[in-house]
Amino acid sequence: MKPLVAIVGRPNVGKSTLFNKLAGERLAIVEDLPGTTRDRIYADAEWNGRVFTLVDTGGLELGSEDKIMSRIAEQVRLGIEEADVIIFLVDTRSGATEADVEVAEMLRRSGKPVVLGANKADSHAQRMDAVEFYALGLGEPITLSAISGTGTGDLLDAVTDALPPPREAEGEEEYAGLPRIAIVGRPNVGKSSLVNAILGQERVIVSDIPGTTRDTIDTLVEHKGQRLVLLDTAGIRRRGHVGAGVERYSVIRATRAIDRCDVAVLMIDGVEGITAQDTHIAGYIHDAARGMIIVINKWDLVREAQRKAEEAAGLEAAVSLKPGGNLAALEEEPHDADYYRALVRDRFKFAPYAPVIFAAAKTKYHINIILEHALRIWETRQQRISTAQLNEVVREAARRHHPPVVQGRPMRIYYVTQAEVSPPTFIFFVNDPSLLHFSYQRYLENQLRQAFGFEGTAVRLEFRERQSDRGERDERKKGKRVPSRR
Ligand code: GDP
Ligand code: GDP
Repeated sequence: MKPLVAIVGRPNVGKSTLFNKLAGERLAIVEDLPGTTRDRIYADAEWNGRVFTLVDTGGLELGSEDKIMSRIAEQVRLGIEEADVIIFLVDTRSGATEADVEVAEMLRRSGKPVVLGANKADSHAQRMDAVEFYALGLGEPITLSAISGTGTGDLLDAVTDALPPPREAEGEEEYAGLPRIAIVGRPNVGKSSLVNAILGQERVIVSDIPGTTRDTIDTLVEHKGQRLVLLDTAGIRRRGHVGAGVERYSVIRATRAIDRCDVAVLMIDGVEGITAQDTHIAGYIHDAARGMIIVINKWDLVREAQRKAEEAAGLEAAVSLKPGGNLAALEEEPHDADYYRALVRDRFKFAPYAPVIFAAAKTKYHINIILEHALRIWETRQQRISTAQLNEVVREAARRHHPPVVQGRPMRIYYVTQAEVSPPTFIFFVNDPSLLHFSYQRYLENQLRQAFGFEGTAVRLEFRERQSDRGERDERKKGKRVPSRR
């Protein structure tokens, strides 16, 4: 349960500089999202033993309004809604501007813990100037220089002091061991519609489990006698429009629900097509080694568009190749299931195991099979393969297709064991893990999948050096002659 810390403030006060400084040097980055290093706006970090997610709201492209103030206000409003602690950054060189005063007013009214950072205090004189920020009514300004890093430790101390006390969700313990299924995706793809459809159909035992985070509403439901916890990331209703900023926050919310789930149902808007955000979320699910189901939603609209196109242009127009952005485009170039299957496989290459379901939450088309799949995937993640069976399969695989040989040295697999379930984790003891090639790992994974299933879930393969080999290598380094094994 990671708290969220948002950096807000006017443009050019140094929010991105601070974020990069903190994420790059000061904080131990706990996890990194795939594909986010270049344009990273959030990072899971640790300071004083507290883990939290840091967000640079300057990186959120907010609204299209020209007025700077309304953009800042939107950013601050989002920060207040989403974050546990807000770092309000101001610029010592420019002093408190009218916009700063307005933001301070919003923050004070919200009652959120705020840490006031007076940036660009590079010199002693500038640090002295920062006293004027007391007038913002947010307590002591912490002077810092985001560029040099001076003062950032004090800022982080103040942030960790302001974090809510760490706590386990009360519901968490009680429902331990039950399948946890998260419904995730961008705004407007149909998450609430799916949740409502499921809740309208299954027996709801406890709604809104206490201890739920601000990111999700957890509900205990029963499906054909099997109890499960549904993690609903859409349940937190948001006022107003869905802008780009909301979308970026929604990705953060999704990742936090994914961390807590066994199986993630990734919903995609079939009319919109697959976006970079969708791929981003899928990448996170894969890296977290959760189960994954890809739902192409609003299939009723896609079908309708297809039907219209067929009527209008005869059969030839029914075949399409390009992704569309809206319904009108879809009517010109309709997408069928084959098109989508190919697109999913292409965009989500890293997760060929994830089933694709075409559904319509609104008309309840195929929503039954989503839960069925999720439960089956949950079960397959619990599977334990006997060591004997495992080694037989791997030995046979290595016989059919030999492990890589690097500079005359072959990789040898001595022994395989399943160390964990959920996610299924296999440890391969080998002579030298550095000899492993990615394609061979892929091959071994496929062989395991062929033999044992694991449909719908990532599995982990770890390669470790066998203890005796490590000893042998050390001996060799020391210059002793060790008879080579044959
Ligand atoms: P943002 O719009 O709030 O994200 O601001 P940026 O991080 O892009 O910074 C705006 C400008 O202020 C950049 O030119 C930074 O190099 C500069 N800047 C940021 N922090 C400091 C600082 O501590 N001292 C000085 N002198 N300049 C800074
Ligand atoms: P969320 O933001 O992901 O929770 O999305 P919602 O469930 O609020 O859905 C956004 C909009 O899409 C609403 O107007 C829904 O009625 C509509 N919608 C959701 N699923 C479907 C569907 O399968 N078919 C159609 N036609 N509309 C849908």
